Amino acid sequence: MIRRFIRKVFGKKAAPGPRILAQDAHGIRRDLIHPCALKTCRTLYDAGYAAFVVGGAVRDLLLGREPKDFDVATDATPDEIRRLFRRSRVIGRRFQIVHVYCGADTIEVTTFRAGAPSAEADEDDADHVTGEGGMLLRDNVFGNQEEDAARRDFTVNALYYDPENEEVWDLHGGVEDAKRKVLRMIGDPEQRYREDPVRMLRAARFAAKLEFHIDPATRAPIACLAPMLAHIPTARLFDEMMKLLLSGHAERGVRQLRAEGLHHGILPMLDTVLDDPARQKFLHHALHDTDLRVRQGHSASPAFMLACLLWFDFQAEFSRNKERGQHLQSALFDAMDTVLERQRDVLAFPRRFDGTIKEIWGMQGRLEQRSGNRPFRLMQHPRFRAAYDFLLIRAESGDAPAELAEWWTRFQDAEDSEREAMLIQPGAGEGAKRKCRRKPHKSEDGAGPVEVILG
Ligand code: ATP
Ligand code: MG
Repeated sequence: MIRRFIRKVFGKKAAPGPRILAQDAHGIRRDLIHPCALKTCRTLYDAGYAAFVVGGAVRDLLLGREPKDFDVATDATPDEIRRLFRRSRVIGRRFQIVHVYCGADTIEVTTFRAGAPSAEADEDDADHVTGEGGMLLRDNVFGNQEEDAARRDFTVNALYYDPENEEVWDLHGGVEDAKRKVLRMIGDPEQRYREDPVRMLRAARFAAKLEFHIDPATRAPIACLAPMLAHIPTARLFDEMMKLLLSGHAERGVRQLRAEGLHHGILPMLDTVLDDPARQKFLHHALHDTDLRVRQGHSASPAFMLACLLWFDFQAEFSRNKERGQHLQSALFDAMDTVLERQRDVLAFPRRFDGTIKEIWGMQGRLEQRSGNRPFRLMQHPRFRAAYDFLLIRAESGDAPAELAEWWTRFQDAEDSEREAMLIQPGAGEGAKRKCRRKPHKSEDGAGPVEVILG
């Protein structure tokens, strides 16, 4: 209460310099804020703390978009937050965050933090540690709102919405940048990328997602600093890449990555894929279809995306193995393993995806076999739908016969009697020329056998 009184009297001076916009200036409707975020802010506010909806949600609402999630920033410490919310938990290794549970939803509440250490920071300071090249290794020092805004990445990501007064607090000109569709780094871009090179990937991701252009000064250092991504743990790179690929804006995101030269150590296949018109067409269909799915509110599978991105690498490796005289099956399985391991070295995707990726690739051959019981058995396969979707993308881009994809589309919808008539009798079609062999192959993650039939 005392805190609230002080805030009432001195409140708007708490963080000197912010531009405070009233509702009619920013246009964000309070009823568009998630009720749990409103409730969380209200509880903090009633206890005398500052509480704002912050980051991506404010940016998206300002741009008339639907936010993905709602984060709250406050001057209460994690312990103080925990005491206010019975259903809450402190999480995080890199940063201490409190998850406040509200029905089935979770609101992420963070205490205002200070950013990079100043030049005179104590080297032994355990909470503020920088590594090689100025990289920020730990960043868990509490700060005030001004410091919290300064340690955020882009100006449009440093906007604070105060639900009590329906005000937007803009500390770095983010509202103006949002209007002009400019992505601008807060502070000195080169130094900010050196502190955390992942910000370069975030620049590409937000430029693609928001359809913003990257401010020239923010863009300039990327070309030279891109190799710093090699120092980032591959698991973190994977998380960031998945955000880009499953954002509903993957197609633009991937092009942006390549335009900025950020793909070399992460998705090296983009060079060969984007320079070859046929492969480019395949990737276009794969990413475009995924983007549509995500935008329609459906989920998209990381394994499917990886299967698409690595398809040509896999085929090239498979051909090489065959040319070397390897037996067909070992050529196939070796190619799968080689390509997945090579990619895992740069992007630590979980091994549990391997089984699905291999099955999607392996089933492409089985989809060509349309006689006897095979199509019926194939449709029972848990990964049939993914393999069929993959075939559709191949057909759309000329990598598989359109007739084959159409056949499968009709076959799935047909009545039993119609299906029998659709089967291609041995001797009548290309299926007859194929020699079928089947080999159960144990997937690496132990998730069960990967069944592949070779033509
Ligand atoms: P999205 O809608 O994609 O989730 P977001 O802006 O909410 O976008 P998050 O990754 O959820 O992005 O991060 C939340 C906020 O935390 C960002 O808006 C930004 O202010 C800050 N932030 C996140 N990562 C960084 C970083 N690497 N450096 C500086 N600030 C960051
Ligand atoms: Mg977010």
